[in-house]
Amino acid sequence: MKTWNEEKAVAIEAVIAASKLCENVRQKLGAGDSAQKEDRSPVTIADYGSQAVILAALAKSFPSDPIVAEEDAAELSGDAQTELRNKVVAEVQVIDPSANETSVIEAIDRGNYGGKDGRFWTLDPIDGTKGFLRKDQYAVALALIEDGEVVFSVLGCPALPHMLDLPTGPIGCLLVAQKGHGAEIYDMTGKMISGAVVDDNFNPALAKICESVESGHSKHDWAAAIAEKLGVTTESVRMDSQCKYAAVARGDASVYLRLPTRPGYQEKIWDHAAGMLAVQEAGGKVTDIHGQPLDFGQGQTLSLNQGVVATNLHVHDFVIQAIAETKDEFAPQ
Ligand code: AMP
Ligand code: MG
Repeated sequence: MKTWNEEKAVAIEAVIAASKLCENVRQKLGAGDSAQKEDRSPVTIADYGSQAVILAALAKSFPSDPIVAEEDAAELSGDAQTELRNKVVAEVQVIDPSANETSVIEAIDRGNYGGKDGRFWTLDPIDGTKGFLRKDQYAVALALIEDGEVVFSVLGCPALPHMLDLPTGPIGCLLVAQKGHGAEIYDMTGKMISGAVVDDNFNPALAKICESVESGHSKHDWAAAIAEKLGVTTESVRMDSQCKYAAVARGDASVYLRLPTRPGYQEKIWDHAAGMLAVQEAGGKVTDIHGQPLDFGQGQTLSLNQGVVATNLHVHDFVIQAIAETKDEFAPQ
């Protein structure tokens, strides 16, 4: 069976390096909480820096692979952006002292693939930017797509406790998945901790459910109605970014719900590719809210799908049914 071991070595190292850059930037966030001041410059610096680090690593090892990444370098060009550009370059140089302005811009610019065929990478350099600014959860999400199928992924969760219930314990992990070969959990030094396995809960009433912190990204009142239908009495866990997929893949939660908040929103592939494969390879199941598989062969968005449901597999059908029974009241019109 096909493996992606060469990609694995490169991608793990790159995601760890980018995660370090993000944490370096985050440590400089003022105590005054820049999220409240709506100052997005830290997230912008870390977004571009993370993308530069990962795309430079991919360019070196896989020069002919196209990449679709969330950011493009246009926002960094021009005299008005000199200060921002210098800060991005300085942060990348902490990680790679040989980097310079030209190499950083060139690397960021490689993420502009607009196609959907063949083999390409997709990257969200910081998923969950609101969580990043709030000093909560965020993710660095890298995945490889071949002929419309996600085949390999590294999901960096730099601030996720190894045990969700023990925030004072070790922090930060990577979920690494290869199609047909399972998923593994690594620490932020690149050491493997264990295999990733979903929980073995068959009882929907006992399911721990996670959802977005942001009510604009997933409908909270609908999730509450679904939880009630399932007989769930515990509070859902609200978490930013694809760390929710990591929670399901590690068995911290049985269900991740992403329920549309407005008609016509198309989920971005970089918001789901890495997380989906981690859950699937940990033994779980991922579909849209209608129970249909996510179709990564349509370009930059999941244009044929609505919302996302990721589960431990055992409770999946119950969740899909609860969605169908509540959608007339809660689905956005
Ligand atoms: P989360 O941290 O799970 O709330 O998701 C963060 C991601 O939500 C971002 O990367 C955005 O691409 C995505 N996003 C933005 N607007 C919406 C929306 N209306 N519905 C769903 N996702 C969205
Ligand atoms: Mg994102």
